[in-house]
Amino acid sequence: MIIVGAGLGGLALAHGLRSNGIDVALYERDAHPDARPQGYRIQLDEPGLAGLEHCLPPTLFQLCLATTGTPPARVSVRDRHLRVLADKAALSGSGAGNAAGPRAFNRPTLRQVMLSGLRDHVHYGARLSAYQYEADGTVTARFADGRTASADLLVGADGVNSAVRRLLLPDAPVHDAGLRLVYGKIPFKRNSRSDIPDWVFENIFTVVTGGPGHPHLGLGPVEFSDRPDRAGLAHTPPVALSPVGDYVACMVGAPADHPSMPSFEQLRGLTHAGLRDVALRVLGADWHEDVHRLLGLWDTDSLFPLRISTAAPVPAWDSGPVTLIGDAIHAMSPVLAMGANTAIRDASELTRALSTAARTGEPLKDAVRTYESRMTDYAFSIVADSQRTGRQRVGQR
Ligand SMILES: Cc1cc2nc3c(=O)[nH]c(=O)nc-3n(C[C@H](O)[C@H](O)[C@H](O)COP(=O)(O)OP(=O)(O)OC[C@H]3O[C@@H](n4cnc5c(N)ncnc54)[C@H](O)[C@@H]3O)c2cc1C
Repeated sequence: MIIVGAGLGGLALAHGLRSNGIDVALYERDAHPDARPQGYRIQLDEPGLAGLEHCLPPTLFQLCLATTGTPPARVSVRDRHLRVLADKAALSGSGAGNAAGPRAFNRPTLRQVMLSGLRDHVHYGARLSAYQYEADGTVTARFADGRTASADLLVGADGVNSAVRRLLLPDAPVHDAGLRLVYGKIPFKRNSRSDIPDWVFENIFTVVTGGPGHPHLGLGPVEFSDRPDRAGLAHTPPVALSPVGDYVACMVGAPADHPSMPSFEQLRGLTHAGLRDVALRVLGADWHEDVHRLLGLWDTDSLFPLRISTAAPVPAWDSGPVTLIGDAIHAMSPVLAMGANTAIRDASELTRALSTAARTGEPLKDAVRTYESRMTDYAFSIVADSQRTGRQRVGQR
């Protein structure tokens, strides 16, 4: 199998298929795993944790869990003066392994853990540019540097701007959700959270909102139960994980048409300090003093800009030797923290369908159809829920 994209979905799928004796090669456009900022905190709930447990070798799954934080499983929304508008349980835990309750992962650490055992299978600097169907039912992928690769199945796990989706489903729309974020983190000073207000740690995620059409602040603590580098060394065989300290992921978001928000192209051209200035200007002055204090603790060098997209439902298509998982087919806004959860669930569902086909002799095309029909059912309802919540909470279009 060929998997295009070594993000969370592609890596989970590669593990799942290999565990079932299916050969995989991953092709990733980035030159190496740390070629660009990938983000900070990622919250996995029931679908993501159960999917990881299904796809990963058991000891790697345990290493994933050992390198997470378990903040209180509640999500809260506060107004700009920190009055609580809503406070509810985060999605329930999976009961999978030790994974009761949602977990706060550090995304780069999770990717490092998931790359373990796959390094010989990932080809970097390989940007898919085209593919073609062959007469014998296989598919040949073409990469921008001239490389080609053939397989029975090509899986597009290449994220929101998926080249595979554009080729397979050229009419499948992905819309600008009308939200821009400046995303960064607040590292603990001297391993202590004492500078950060206690209410930040009462929830796995807190949104402080100025109301629809206004800016908002998102805060998610990541306090590791064990230092990732130490947990990696304790694994057999040892897994080299970069040292990282506890932090609070912190983002300022606002509608794209907010008068102080530059175009996304302009945002991308700004320095870290420029991004910080924009975020502070967009947010304005009239917020609880804790909000201003928190932004004073932001690590300026950690900031980068994001544009949020959301996919429209796609009518059923003819299944064949090319399919899609994750953001490549169902990009959604991050308000429900479900994008990676769903990408990993897809990996698990596709693993199940393909391994059943390998065992029973079911034609590959039928297995792909089974996966696609299940995936489009659950995924597009989550996209719609995310859009609804995004409109209520943060002025998503
Ligand atoms: C601010 C923010 C916070 C979020 N928080 C959460 C959260 O807490 N929980 C959650 O579940 N979700 C969260 N999400 C959503 C989550 O990040 C995505 O849904 C998830 O990363 C999708 O995984 P993926 O594997 O489909 O795509 P990606 O992780 O985007 O991976 C795609 C990979 O494909 C590669 N690629 C792209 N094009 C090509 C090409 N042509 N050829 C080869 N390779 C290519 C890319 O380089 C990349 O490595 C958040 C999103 C944002 C923006």
